[in-house]
Formats: sequence, C-alpha cells, structure tokens
Amino acid sequence: MQNINTYDFKGKRAIVRVDFNVPLNADFQVTDNTRIRAAVPSLKKVLEQGGSLILMSHLGRPKKAEDKFSLRHIISEIEKQLEVPVLFAPDCMGKEAARMAANLKPGQILLLENLRFYAEEEGKPRNLAEDASEEEKKTAKAAIKESQKKFTATLASYADCYINDAFGTAHRAHASTTLIAAHFPNDKMFGFLMENEIRAIDKVLKSPEHPMTAILGGAKVSSKIAIIEHLLNKVDNIIIGGGMSFTFIKAGGGNIGDSLCEDDQMTLALEILRKAKEKGVKIYITEDVIAADAFDNNANTRICPVDRIPDGWMGMDAGPRTLETWEKMIMNSKTILWNGPVGVFEMPAFASGTLHLAEFVARATAKGSFSLVGGGDSVAAITQMGYADKVSYVSTGGGAMLEYLEGKVLPGIQAIRE
Ligand code: AMP
Repeated sequence: MQNINTYDFKGKRAIVRVDFNVPLNADFQVTDNTRIRAAVPSLKKVLEQGGSLILMSHLGRPKKAEDKFSLRHIISEIEKQLEVPVLFAPDCMGKEAARMAANLKPGQILLLENLRFYAEEEGKPRNLAEDASEEEKKTAKAAIKESQKKFTATLASYADCYINDAFGTAHRAHASTTLIAAHFPNDKMFGFLMENEIRAIDKVLKSPEHPMTAILGGAKVSSKIAIIEHLLNKVDNIIIGGGMSFTFIKAGGGNIGDSLCEDDQMTLALEILRKAKEKGVKIYITEDVIAADAFDNNANTRICPVDRIPDGWMGMDAGPRTLETWEKMIMNSKTILWNGPVGVFEMPAFASGTLHLAEFVARATAKGSFSLVGGGDSVAAITQMGYADKVSYVSTGGGAMLEYLEGKVLPGIQAIRE
C-alpha cells in the first residue's frame, strides 16, 4: 500500500477525493471552512513535492446540475487556504475537463464541478417513475451501474495517482470514494486527514488502554443500538445519557413522564443490559434529570430521579447526581469515546450536562487519557462548548465514524487497502 508521506509526487497528477461539502449562506459564501482546512495538509504535500492536483468532491444533494450546488462558489475559499490560483472545470466529464487535466503543470490545481451532478457518482438511478415496476427498477439499476464504470474510468484517466482524503464519505461505495481506486492498483493512498481519522478510531477500537469508557448520548436508541452492541466487546464502562436513556428506564419499569422514548426498542434495551452484565461491562444510565414542563428553553424546570418523572414533564438534561457519578467514571478512564450530547444542548437551559461532560473529558485528557469525540451532533456540541482543542481527537466524519464504530468495514477504506 502506498503512503502519502513516502510517495513521489514529482511531475505526477494526483486526483484527490476531498470532502468540500461545506455550508454556504444565501450569498454562496462558505460559512464554515473546517472541511477545506482539513484537506490542506494533503494538498500542500502534493504541491510542495512538485505534483499537480485534480480536486473532486460533492456539494449538497443535487438531483441534477444546479448552480446553487456548484463548487465554483468555493473556489476563492480554496485559493485563500492554499494561496495558489485554482482552475475550474465546469463539468467533471467531457473534453474540457480532460483537456484541462492533461495541461496541468506541476504546482497547479484543477477543481472539478460537483460530482453529484451525475447520477453515476452515487450509482443510483434518478428520475425513476414512482410507479415503476420491479423490472423497470432492475433495468435502470443495471444501466446506471454500467455507465458508472465509464464515469469512473473517465475520472481516473485525468491522473497518475489517487488520494482519498474524504473520511466523511468513506462509508459510501461511490465512484470517487471507492470504485476509482481499482484504476490505481499501485498508486492509491489515504490523505493525512483519512489517516488521522483511521488511526484515532483504531486506537480506541483495536488497542485501547483500559479502563475504557464509551459515552453515548443523543436522541434515539435505535440509531445507536449497533454501536452499543459492538462496544460491549471492547469497553469496561458505558455511559448512556440524553434522550436515549428514557427507553432503558421505561423498559425497567420507571416513570419517564413525557420524556422521549422509543417503545419499540424497549425489548432490545433490556437485552443490551442483560448482555452487558454477562460480559462484565458496567452501564451508567442517567440517574437524575433536569425535567421541564415543555420542550422549551423557557419552560419551568425541576430536578427529579430519572425513573420518577411526573406526567406532563420531560427529562431534558442530566442532573447533578448523575454528573457526579459520570465525573468519577471519566476521570478514572484511560480511553474515552464520546458520541452524542446528553441533553437538549441546543437550548442554553439544558446545555449544562453536555458542557460539564465536555469539561470532564477535557480534564481527563489533560491528565493523559486518550479521548475521541465524534459522530452526529457531538462535534457541534464540543465545538459550541469551546472544548474541541482540549480532547485528543475530534472526528469530522459523522455517519462514517458511526458505521466504523458499529464494526462495519467502510468501502472507502477497504478500496485503498485491498
Ligand atoms: P444524535 O444526532 O443522535 O447525536 O442526537 C442529538 C440530539 O439529541 C440533539 O439534537 C439533542 O437535542 C437531542 N437530545 C439529547 N438529549 C435529549 C433529551 N433528553 N430529550 C430530547 N432530545 C434530546
């Protein structure tokens, strides 16, 4: 397997799958350039070594070519970060893109237009009639898979080597994230961002220092069940907080008032508790909550035990006793994995639990523990709380990180490794 550190880029054209799916405001200005900045080390490496760059990404979820999803809006932001002018191919396919790629000189950058302007990128048929028969669906699927091969080969024809630095889409088997790798059997590699993400998650999943604690919060149990099951084989402790606690508490016979609950997940919740006991994994569910009489920042609040929440009230944040238990747990852990807020942190009145948790994790990290935060809303929470640079690693790949934590093999990673 090639390595971006040791590969000789001199005179080579590198096609790089980046994740430039950045938020834009109404004037099409980039409002958060984190993802562009995250790709800079890999891109600079190629340029400094005398190579040239062909950048490819998706932006949003277009169903056809549409200006509001055009990557041309982010050219100036890339230029600002790399301090090099960026050439733009207004179509990622066609003669113009091929010509521009062929003419690239060392040190130059070519950005291709949004890959998802073509259905071939994702390899799923578009514009299928709602009442299409199974046969029609099958034919359309086969047709797009066929044209996807040509699409992928065309992208590959632009370059001498392939770098995947888009961890955020590593769980998708798309043309630019997975299929293209086969065209570069000896010249494919991860970018620095991808390498760092994989290293951080592998450190937690494959060689953690014990005791290890996973903190799982967020709204729903259903989206975290697979992760909990996988982690039961790895961790010593699991903290379960946020909206998903209540499904466990109700399943155990507690009164949760009007708190969030997934009744259809209660059997599974009990099953998890049973398995955890069997495996000797300790589970720490919310003990007391800050309950509110409405899902509103200005609602009346009271502190009550999690299994005695009155009707008409709902658990919105972790209470003081819970935080005391969690603090001890976290301060005693050598490895910490955190996914999901433990309260409705978007409302200031119910952000305190998540804020305290961020502080505990930061303190444990300062004491020498390894902490990985990521997936879904966790990154927004830790950034909003101002603790992003006080933990060991903040993963940028929401869905990809969650699938990795479930123990799934991510196609984007496998394509480079195999
Ligand atoms: P997730 O995307 O699964 O990480 O869930 C994040 C969401 O869970 C955030 O929008 C939180 O507001 C929400 N959440 C956390 N705790 C609660 C709670 N006690 N009740 C309702 N929603 C919650």
